[in-house]
Amino acid sequence: MTFKKIMIAGAGVLGSQIAYQTALSGFEVTVYNHHIDTATRRINALKEDYQRDLHLSDEDFQKGLDNITLITDDIGAAVEDADLMIEALPESLELKKDFYQKVSALAPAKTIFASNSSTFIPSQLAPFTDRPTKFLNLHFANRIWLFNVVEVMRTSDTAAEITSQAIDFSREIKMVPIELHKEQHGYILNSLLIPLLSAGLGLWAKGVAEPQIIDKDWMISTGAPMGPFAILDMVGLRTAAQIEMNTYAATKDESHKAVADKMKKMIAEGHDGKEAGQGFYHYPHPEFADPEFLKK
Ligand code: NAD
Repeated sequence: MTFKKIMIAGAGVLGSQIAYQTALSGFEVTVYNHHIDTATRRINALKEDYQRDLHLSDEDFQKGLDNITLITDDIGAAVEDADLMIEALPESLELKKDFYQKVSALAPAKTIFASNSSTFIPSQLAPFTDRPTKFLNLHFANRIWLFNVVEVMRTSDTAAEITSQAIDFSREIKMVPIELHKEQHGYILNSLLIPLLSAGLGLWAKGVAEPQIIDKDWMISTGAPMGPFAILDMVGLRTAAQIEMNTYAATKDESHKAVADKMKKMIAEGHDGKEAGQGFYHYPHPEFADPEFLKK
């Protein structure tokens, strides 16, 4: 293995998953999070998912846990001797800047820094560090044990061997690395997905067709297992409405506000998506998963 010790900063939705997947793959992991209780709860909650989806025994799951050390309020101790530090802190540029300045002063020279940021490209973050040649983004997908891609995005300053070491590491934790040759907001997946979701929402807001009909056309015509509205249920309507409001604020295009308003009405009725049991479909047995759905 290229690396031995990995630090994960932030044990929220994504950080806890990256930490556990890395620890399960045999690396020594330190997790730095503001609150130990939240970090412990999040990591332990993964047991049910890993046992259901990957059939891990109690013993197997515990082996992963044994490789994790949780640390709060001491970045220096968390990053000590780390070969790689993956940052999964909240999506705030100010917060990330503060963290990168602090960790730069405390990390050994060998430590590679990687951000899991969904919206900031690496050249926005690297200047906050003392090591732009050792900086890149590693963008994981939610539920990484199942959706095991990592988008690898470097800057023009990132050293070639750092990118290849990060790619080797990604494979060692059972991810499929997707290497981007240029910086791109939204990476590959969101550059494709967000326009698709927005187009579906736009058709609905204009009254062209109802969500399930739009999905049905997409699914039959392309063979895809889900349409845009089934995907929106998975993402959650709160996030989707927020993205539409942000687009409205940036473009003043009223159609985005109309779409957000329609979703806000559903949210107010408790129909936030899959997690709430209802969104554009009803869960746990959504209509689109019924074989009859595509037949009429
Ligand atoms: P989150 O809010 O669930 O987790 C953030 C964690 O950081 C929390 O546990 C919080 O206690 C901790 N924290 C906050 N401030 C801190 C500080 N100053 N020092 C130490 N710990 C601190 O966030 P998330 O959804 O896991 O997202 C984290 C990053 O991952 C973001 O950059 C986001 O864009 C990216 N990302 C998220 C997803 C997703 O589906 N949620 C997917 C891919 C990438």
